[in-house]
Amino acid sequence: MRLDIAINKGCEKLKKSNTNSAMLDSELLLSKVINKSREFIILNLKQKINEKDYNHFQELINQRSKGKPIAYLIGKKLFWKYEFEVNDRVLIPRPDTEIVIEYVLNIYKKKNKIHFLDIGFGSGCILLSILKERKDFKATGIDISKHALKVCNINAYKLGVKNRVKLFKSDIDKFSKGKYDLIISNPPYIKKLDLRYLDKEVIKFEPKIALNGGLDGTSEIRKVVKKSSELIKNGGKLILEIAFNQKEEVKQVLKNNGFYINSVIKDLAKNDRCIISTKIEK
Ligand code: GLN
Repeated sequence: MRLDIAINKGCEKLKKSNTNSAMLDSELLLSKVINKSREFIILNLKQKINEKDYNHFQELINQRSKGKPIAYLIGKKLFWKYEFEVNDRVLIPRPDTEIVIEYVLNIYKKKNKIHFLDIGFGSGCILLSILKERKDFKATGIDISKHALKVCNINAYKLGVKNRVKLFKSDIDKFSKGKYDLIISNPPYIKKLDLRYLDKEVIKFEPKIALNGGLDGTSEIRKVVKKSSELIKNGGKLILEIAFNQKEEVKQVLKNNGFYINSVIKDLAKNDRCIISTKIEK
């Protein structure tokens, strides 16, 4: 079968299941199956696809039509300036999280030499993007998931920053190594009972362990703040991603743990998304 015909068939099937970006997704899945770029496909539409590849393509289209995110099907996602390998055991990097990178780069200039900690690194999109931008930084990461450890290790290797990062599989409560200039975390912060209101693609396919913030939504954030107050150097910064409605509660938690609130940053949709704070008292 010709590539253009395969793409059109895939697209038709995705349209029937109300997939938003049917044409694009069909192209991306075909490009994954035949291991060629989208540009190659567009320039070689009359080329043939073999039967084995076509069956594989149909299988991916089928999974996509059931809502499986395209990032999991093609195994990668762009975040900041880099491509990250992902699978369905780690959260897909979100564009909203890019403001965390932006603010870290704003606060720490190229001449700074800091050692930072990322709590709950997942795919590694936050800590690895920062390491790519700042050649003199070192990072430590912890995550409770061994799958995350594996994915992040691969990404660290691919991005060429492996020699500046140490990763541990650990529960936040059990970790007590080192003192850090900066701590960053995008912990699970969705209220347990609100998980069912998330987008279907999110709740059906992404790991709950990366989303579930307990009954009040802030259980993990509280743990992160408490532990950070022990692991951070005096005057060090803690940068947290939060839900749109958690600003006041998290500010209070931070103050109770000796942090001064520098600012609360909104994401592109104008929702409060990130709190920057400084450790000022023991
Ligand atoms: N922002 C994510 C979502 O909306 C949640 C990420 C998290 O819990 N840290 O799905």
